[in-house]
Amino acid sequence: MLKACKPVIAVHGGAGTWDSTRSGAALKSVREAAEIGFKTMRTGGSAVDAVVEAVALMEDSGNFNAGAGSTLNIEKHVEMEASVMDGATLQAGAAGLLSDVRNPVRLARLVMEETDHVFVVGKGAEDLARMFGLERRQAITPAQLERYEAQLKILLAGGGYLPRLAELVKAHPEVFQLETVGAVALDGAGNVAAATSTGGFPLKLSGRIGDSPSIGCGTYADNRSGACSASGVGEVAIRLVLAKTVCDYIGTGKTPQKAAEDAIALIKERISNVYNVMGLIAVDVKGRIGAAHSTSNLCWAYMTPALDEPVALLKAKFVN
Ligand code: ASP
Repeated sequence: MLKACKPVIAVHGGAGTWDSTRSGAALKSVREAAEIGFKTMRTGGSAVDAVVEAVALMEDSGNFNAGAGSTLNIEKHVEMEASVMDGATLQAGAAGLLSDVRNPVRLARLVMEETDHVFVVGKGAEDLARMFGLERRQAITPAQLERYEAQLKILLAGGGYLPRLAELVKAHPEVFQLETVGAVALDGAGNVAAATSTGGFPLKLSGRIGDSPSIGCGTYADNRSGACSASGVGEVAIRLVLAKTVCDYIGTGKTPQKAAEDAIALIKERISNVYNVMGLIAVDVKGRIGAAHSTSNLCWAYMTPALDEPVALLKAKFVN
């Protein structure tokens, strides 16, 4: 018989390449994010509360490509985006093209709970944040400015412009971060939720929207199956509606681990002619956790009632 395994949370800090100079701080942050999300549910909060608090902590940490520390677009501006989904009601909220909202995931939640819409971007989204009194913050950090200059130098040295970006990213994965953050949770009431937040793909075109705020692509949750959050090349996740695909796989009876692995395999099978790396975390309504990635690392953590403290890892190894 399946033992009681609620609440459960898994979080990620992106499917990037994490070297030892930065992985210590990142692992600490994902551990803290899993802890705060778990504690939120243990003290009566819902899965939505848990994923929002976990993601907000990672946005504030400055260790990831989300919130403080977001990557810059080709015009040297920050354009952050985030989403959240409630598996109990299929309600969802997302916001994009944000320059100075402190926690994009909190704005996504406002869109979900306080408007009739799912996705609001740009000035309208910033106005909404102002209307509801959300905190603002200058998101560009000195470290990101330095990275931008390094990325641009490599891009220009390649002698080409954006069509060559994928090749450059392959050759220099250490400079082009995929450090989007996300969380998936199952609460004590049996409801699942997912949230994702990002600065987007480094050197992206101004106005580009990725998978992270796109419901079904970077984020999905449904009480009939489970919840999933993605990191990686947004265009690939959009084309395969990847987070929903993982949930659909779970709905057919696969474990979250098998569902995440099969979704990564699907990418290789169907979209192999472009830069296509991804990382995925998932939970199901039974409280099982899965994670898989085609990058060298996935910085992630999870917490269950069977553990004394969250487990944080740089590779997707999880035995249910
Ligand atoms: N998925 C994000 C995007 O394409 C990037 C990332 O995962 O870091 O915008």
